[in-house]
Amino acid sequence: MLNIILFGPPGSGKGTQSEKLIVKYGLKHLSTGDLLRSEIAAQTPLGLEAKAIMDKGHLVPDEVVIGMISSALEANPTSSGFLFDGFPRTEAQSIALDSLLELKNTEIAAVLSLEVGEDELIKRLLQRGLTSGRSDDTNEEIIRARIVEYHKKTSVVADYYSQFDKVRNIKGEGTVDEIFQALCKEVDQYTM
Ligand code: ADP
Repeated sequence: MLNIILFGPPGSGKGTQSEKLIVKYGLKHLSTGDLLRSEIAAQTPLGLEAKAIMDKGHLVPDEVVIGMISSALEANPTSSGFLFDGFPRTEAQSIALDSLLELKNTEIAAVLSLEVGEDELIKRLLQRGLTSGRSDDTNEEIIRARIVEYHKKTSVVADYYSQFDKVRNIKGEGTVDEIFQALCKEVDQYTM
């Protein structure tokens, strides 16, 4: 199995690059943001609870997203690997993910970290907000709150995986294709 975490702040291009990577490497895409938005669309109790939190730019509770990832792993027993996007976002989520993968006798091969400057992030998210229909992309204050959450709670995920020498930094500015090529160069080291 090949399991990769695509890491980086909101707006760093994880969703865009994930779509390309899963096709090239035959991975199952697991995005907690997408899973949460499906719950919101289906108006489940979990979705309603999550929406209020997401609309403030805060993180939903660890146990909620860990539960969603656990179910998704169980639902895909024959997958040849997973691409995690937007998860893990806290150290507790990282530890839980490692345990879940260990149960499947596998592990994270690499954390590919997309690096993008803050002004560029805000610009991209506001631009995306014009068409995405995502309420958390339309207001600069909410976008800034998400970036604050990233620095406060999520950047530690890179520290966590650094202890195992699994983090690779990738420049996340440039054309979509240039960034994709840089990511593939890293992933190829685990497939060849
Ligand atoms: P972005 O990376 O652009 O912020 P996402 O779709 O990954 O977009 O996440 C949107 C929102 O969903 C986050 O701001 C957060 O509220 C919630 N969310 C997504 N993944 C997680 C997670 N792993 N832990 C906690 N909250 C999450």
